[in-house]
Amino acid sequence: MNIKDNAQAHIKRRSLWHWPGFETIEEKASIGELSDKIGKNKVAKLDLADYTPAMRALHQILTGTLIYSTQRKKDLPPPTFTDRDLKEGLRRSWTAELIGHLLVKYESEWYADEALSKWNEIDELFEEEKRQQKALIEAGLDELGITEPYLRDFALDVVDEAHEHVKSNWQLEKAQRIKPSLWWKQVAQAQAQNPTANTDANIPKLSNLSADGKAWFIHPVAMMDYFKVETTKLWHEPLDNPQRTYFSSNGRNFYWNGAFGYVRNQGAKAHTGLDLFADINTPCYACLDGEIVQYKEEGGYGNVLVIKVKGDDLRASRNDYTLEFTDKDKKEIVQADNFNINADHFFLRYCHLSDKHADLKVGDKVKSGDLIGYTGDTGNAKGLCNPHLHFEIAMKKNGNRTHTGNLQKDRLAYKINPAFFVNLQTKDEAKQTKVKERREKR
Ligand SMILES: [Zn+2]
Repeated sequence: MNIKDNAQAHIKRRSLWHWPGFETIEEKASIGELSDKIGKNKVAKLDLADYTPAMRALHQILTGTLIYSTQRKKDLPPPTFTDRDLKEGLRRSWTAELIGHLLVKYESEWYADEALSKWNEIDELFEEEKRQQKALIEAGLDELGITEPYLRDFALDVVDEAHEHVKSNWQLEKAQRIKPSLWWKQVAQAQAQNPTANTDANIPKLSNLSADGKAWFIHPVAMMDYFKVETTKLWHEPLDNPQRTYFSSNGRNFYWNGAFGYVRNQGAKAHTGLDLFADINTPCYACLDGEIVQYKEEGGYGNVLVIKVKGDDLRASRNDYTLEFTDKDKKEIVQADNFNINADHFFLRYCHLSDKHADLKVGDKVKSGDLIGYTGDTGNAKGLCNPHLHFEIAMKKNGNRTHTGNLQKDRLAYKINPAFFVNLQTKDEAKQTKVKERREKR
């Protein structure tokens, strides 16, 4: 977001919280009022008109969603927001999601005056509750025909005693937990006296705490879901419907022969890229944005086009591939020992391309998805029954070899298994067989 002044003058700002899909509610009721209305056995008797704004929003969600489910099946009365209804609602993802999208502005629990007036409102509710319990007990005694004063007093004294206990606990909670945690006012006042000295326009100012202790309460998980950005991968497959070659060059169904690693001659011979089945003249595309740094014949590789790409772009394109061939005699590997995934640049090497070039030359910039050439049967793939694109991802531009004395290991040097980037599709055996038969007849 551009936070500079007037950067988005055309966008009318209504409220910081005014996002589509979210409902903003300013709850005006005091804690005492809320506790009273939500209190046990109260909600059901309450008139809709007496609901507070937050209660009304919640009620609307619950009736709108629950009324069509269990409640209706069981022919129960429309839901209110008793504990039971709320739990029932949170069990259903669509109701829970709507509840998560309620943004409520309410006074912080860390804000109160010195006398704790707002919390003291709750004191009276204990008295009210005690009166109600006593009335219930007296009605019960009447029904049982118990008139003896000492028996009646005994029953009622038990209620008094229990309530004294609850009340003294509540006083302790106010004094020992609530009062020491009232930091809001102090911080808000300190902020007002010392406005942020920072004048650097690039650093967003810290917002001050409101002097009235009111804050927006949000559901962080519902919020994150809203801001979840669908990241579009830059990666484009090197050709349409990329799939492994089903046949080896001599026509056997050794489909592991095109994997990266020690996959040929019972594990004795290395294969330095990923062979993707492609009939002659299949269009090839740039997998990432980059620059063409080579477009020429390179021995056994035939015509090779090389695109230099950014390290970050390649790293962001890695998929969750797991090695498919892990036997001793067909051992696919992740990468060469000397390959470094944190390099600044990498080279995508498209090998055995056709002589039919795309209209591109060395030095040209390409975008991911651009047509860069066509597959062919050049180099050591010439005339084979399994036409394919030999695709490599390397740290060096050319078919570099290091010289450690281990020829097969040296051939793999500075390269990584392209299957971690190409999203391989199922092999079309029928099609590959048809192409093979056609090529063998020539
Ligand atoms: Zn190959």
